[in-house]
Amino acid sequence: MKTIAFQKCINPDCGATYDVSQTLTSCQKCGELLDVDYEWSRGHLPGTLRDFQQRWQNRRFPLDYSGVWRFRELLPFAADAMVCTIGEGQTFLQNAVCLGHHLGMWPGQLWLQYEGMNPSGSFKDNGMTAAFTHARIVGAQRVACASTGNTSASLALYAAMNGFQGIVFIGSGKIAFGKLSQALDYGARTLQIDGDFDACLARVRQVSGQLGLYLMNSVNPFRLEGQKTIMYRILESLNWETPDWIIVPGGNLGNCSAFGKAFSELLKLGLVKRVPRLAVINADGANTLYTLVNKGLKWNGGRPDKGMISAFYKEMAQKDIHPHTVASAIEIGHPVNLEKALRALNIMDGVVAQVSDEAILEAKALIGRFGLGCEPASAATIAGLQQLMERQIISRHERVACVLTGHGLKDPDATVYYHTGINTKKAQLPPAQPTWGHLSNQPVKVADDLDAIVQALGLESGTLDESHAGYVETKVDLPLVEY
Ligand SMILES: *Cc1c(COP(=O)(O)O)cnc(C)c1O
Ligand SMILES: [Zn+2]
Repeated sequence: MKTIAFQKCINPDCGATYDVSQTLTSCQKCGELLDVDYEWSRGHLPGTLRDFQQRWQNRRFPLDYSGVWRFRELLPFAADAMVCTIGEGQTFLQNAVCLGHHLGMWPGQLWLQYEGMNPSGSFKDNGMTAAFTHARIVGAQRVACASTGNTSASLALYAAMNGFQGIVFIGSGKIAFGKLSQALDYGARTLQIDGDFDACLARVRQVSGQLGLYLMNSVNPFRLEGQKTIMYRILESLNWETPDWIIVPGGNLGNCSAFGKAFSELLKLGLVKRVPRLAVINADGANTLYTLVNKGLKWNGGRPDKGMISAFYKEMAQKDIHPHTVASAIEIGHPVNLEKALRALNIMDGVVAQVSDEAILEAKALIGRFGLGCEPASAATIAGLQQLMERQIISRHERVACVLTGHGLKDPDATVYYHTGINTKKAQLPPAQPTWGHLSNQPVKVADDLDAIVQALGLESGTLDESHAGYVETKVDLPLVEY
């Protein structure tokens, strides 16, 4: 296939380009991150985004079935025959009417993009299918990653399905069991390193360079190409209308970077007229992006203040500060895609907020209570939305799409802890407060006896006892519109 794709350094003062057949995770000239870029030509592209919808009619063809490769003209770096797909991206945008109402939003304006529906249970599959496709193009056999959990689960699944050897590096004691169980089950060689995620990633970059392992972390620019499609699917679900806001948790900042790239390309290609605003939500115990951006760090045309970044990391090291949050998927102090995230914030007129672990767990329970389970990191979106509404940055009439990045079953310990106070993983959770958890829904101990059960259910009068812990108002009265 004659390719129109190439790799390009994001630093405008360097601008080095590389062939797609090269396996790189940084620019060989200046060390900056790389993008996958394209010589776009009209002939390769559909006339409108609407044309992609036709592919739904051809769902027995794996590339049309995939929620990533359905949009292949927007990530045209691989011949069809090279694509490693297992049907990722069959995810949906849920109109969260009840939750939106509960949060005080206008009817129908809150949407949840449920990426937990992916084969490995997180959005990472969108990126993995693209990176494995590239790994196949370059003839790699062994693939590796550092992971807070979901990257390893996704890598292990794609490796097992496509005949690669998977190797994952995880930090000690920092991984949710749902995720660890996947990596083990799918047969990935799993190395537990004595250190946090940042240490793991630094080590795996060194080891893969040395041993020629193909690196699957989000410094791999091909992964981010796949993750762009989350935005295409949101647009598609909204009948190709641009929402006002996209909200996403920020960890290593690959996802928000991919979203910014998606919209900058769509705009350049004339496929959208308007770009949504972006809100990236950090946990307050892992808030590098939040801190730097609110100190004034900007993309600045590709020349961000590097001195400011290195001074921040130096101080972190001096004070021996390590990230700490219940949302293990975003427990990252040195986000590798920091500069690309600055670019995304610039393109999408973005904001960064930080939320507490308590707010994250309350938001997670709220999302669950209204019927969509997610893991703690994903719930940072709703906690962030609540805060940004309070601060009047997001208004109640705006249309908001939150990306629920991972499935609720990924981290059941966090959920059980919230509801019962039973702390199965002492090191990772905030101190147990018996009274915390506004939506705490404790299992009720009851004798194996009809009368006792009837009494425990409180159904004698024919209604649920509204004082029962965990009860929330779910009736949807359309709120009065105020002018
Ligand atoms: C990886 C991950 C994140 C963080 O995404 P980044 O691209 O690293 O910012 C958030 N939530 C979940 C569930 C994840 O697995
Ligand atoms: Zn460069």
